Amino acid sequence: MNVPAEARVDLDAIAGNVGLLRERARGAEVMAMVKAEAYGHGLAEAAGAALAGGASWLGVAKLVEALRLRDAGFTVRTLVSVGVPGEPYEEAVARDVDLTVGALWLLDEVVQAAERAGRAARIHLKADTGMSRGGVRGRDWEELVDAALKAEASGRVHVVGVMSHFACADEPGHPSIAAQVGAFTEMAAYAEKAGARFEVRHLANSAGALTVPEARFDLVRPGIAMYGLTPIPALGTFGLRPAMTLVADAALVKRVPGGSGVSYGHTYHTERETTLAVVPAGYGDGIPRHGSNVLQVLAGGARRTIAGRVCMDQFVIDLGDDHLAAGDEIVLFGPGDRGEPTAQEWADALGTISYEIVTRIGSRVPRSYPGGAL
Ligand SMILES: *Cc1c(COP(=O)(O)O)cnc(C)c1O
Repeated sequence: MNVPAEARVDLDAIAGNVGLLRERARGAEVMAMVKAEAYGHGLAEAAGAALAGGASWLGVAKLVEALRLRDAGFTVRTLVSVGVPGEPYEEAVARDVDLTVGALWLLDEVVQAAERAGRAARIHLKADTGMSRGGVRGRDWEELVDAALKAEASGRVHVVGVMSHFACADEPGHPSIAAQVGAFTEMAAYAEKAGARFEVRHLANSAGALTVPEARFDLVRPGIAMYGLTPIPALGTFGLRPAMTLVADAALVKRVPGGSGVSYGHTYHTERETTLAVVPAGYGDGIPRHGSNVLQVLAGGARRTIAGRVCMDQFVIDLGDDHLAAGDEIVLFGPGDRGEPTAQEWADALGTISYEIVTRIGSRVPRSYPGGAL
């Protein structure tokens, strides 16, 4: 069955990228970050590929994502990084999901959930080492550590890990990188002195895993690099292979006269008689509307810039005198092998990051896995 637009995901590429990251991590374990539908690549499929590639943990942002992994049959260690009061922590404990605890209220809720579940909750303490987002620092860190160790002594929790997150690891040499590594080392040492016996200390995202050896500790948490996109565009691709190719089949090809206004607002006019093709993907599928008259796609063997505004369900390209037929495949972005733009190129053209390009591809776009599941 043909579909108007499709995201083809190369699971071998994901497994290969994880293998490369594992090698770079030299002995540290890999937690594959599969939050947000695995950055748009498909939660369960990407998770399976990452485990096949050597990851030994899965990481998600939200509890609902971890529960979906459990529903899909994944029993591997899975860490949730973000929570709000009142989430079903009892279910998390019962289903053996690891929770990041970076606030006293959360520790309290997790302890109560563990009591109800009749087993110890597995928690990772979150230190704010300089990002000023999740986690705590200073006196609050000491309080959190002390409270967590008391809860551990009473059998309610098992303090499995200590973690933090980089703010600027994608800017090599940024002074905050060394400062965060230093703060993390000290904060982990404080907790260990107080009696914590961590199985894993972890700090590094993709950029940290690839470029900050002293940030690897026991485990690294790559996201974007697993999907084959560079976390630091200025340093190149690191040998990673982009996993997602976004394609659409031309819906209509037609000749129009010169001076024709194209799409909403007529922000593009044909210069002379020309051939237009209608591409059935729009902002309702996650194509950025900011890409109107800016983004390129590969059609009929050549790059074409989107002509006029991106609509909700479609956009138009100007083929000049080149030929294309309804049903011919247009590559919006991919690894670049065939001359198509990469997600990084789209990001550069729009002043954003490749993360946003792949993650925003919507649920209306089916994912396919040409090489099969791993
Ligand atoms: C998303 C996320 C990562 C991965 O970040 P990348 O830059 O994609 O490698 C790592 N750790 C945490 C806590 C995250 O939320």
